[in-house]
Amino acid sequence: MQDFAAIVLAAGSGSRMNSRIPKQYIKLLGKPVLYYSLKCFEDCPFVKEIIIVASEADISMVKTDIVDKYGISKVKNVTAGGKERYNSVFNGLAAVTDDVDYVMIHDGARACIDGELLDRIKDSVIRHKACVPAVPSKDTVKISDEEGFVKMTPDRSTVWNIQTPQTFELAAIRHAFEKYMADAANGVNITDDAMVWELYDERPVKIVMGDYRNIKLTTQEDIVPIENILKNSLTRNNP
Ligand code: C5P
Repeated sequence: MQDFAAIVLAAGSGSRMNSRIPKQYIKLLGKPVLYYSLKCFEDCPFVKEIIIVASEADISMVKTDIVDKYGISKVKNVTAGGKERYNSVFNGLAAVTDDVDYVMIHDGARACIDGELLDRIKDSVIRHKACVPAVPSKDTVKISDEEGFVKMTPDRSTVWNIQTPQTFELAAIRHAFEKYMADAANGVNITDDAMVWELYDERPVKIVMGDYRNIKLTTQEDIVPIENILKNSLTRNNP
């Protein structure tokens, strides 16, 4: 059996957007940002269930105005998120059923994913058990010291910009997150889900080619490029 669940995270407040409503609910081309990735998982044959993680106050709106309205039938649960992103992921992992083998953990603020990306991730995670989509860094990256002086410059050919959905064997990532919850209380900080795997599972995380169009809506400047990408993919699918 090679069945997948998708956890779609939508419990953030998105303060960098300077927007009245959280960025995952902003309308792009007339539909909420969150709709687009849900639709991609809905249409993906190997994704059997979708868990949405939203703020407690938004759960019934998400069910009515997004899940029911757009007929996203694979949604098994809309569960409450937590203070930090890892709390939301932990709650999402608890809501996944044991009927699946792998879990894709996705930022609801990334609207521009497609079936080809999900196919690449599927093939990779079945082989490697943990994989992240990423694109080669176009810019040179520098590491600074605390005073803002350059300390070192990593070889650009080894630098990647990491995206989602990060995908893992379900039992192993659950195990890793359970261990992490205790360490988080002790101040061990993580910035993506793969870091939790890296901390507690000795098997390396595989990088799979992501997509430069897989942009996370973060600031107002991202709206126009994301709308253009969505427009182009709608034209591609309905010529
Ligand atoms: O803030 P950032 O862009 O890093 O958030 C990435 C994703 O994680 C967003 O889709 C956001 O809604 C989600 N998130 C969450 N729970 C939090 C913080 C962020 O579900 N506590």
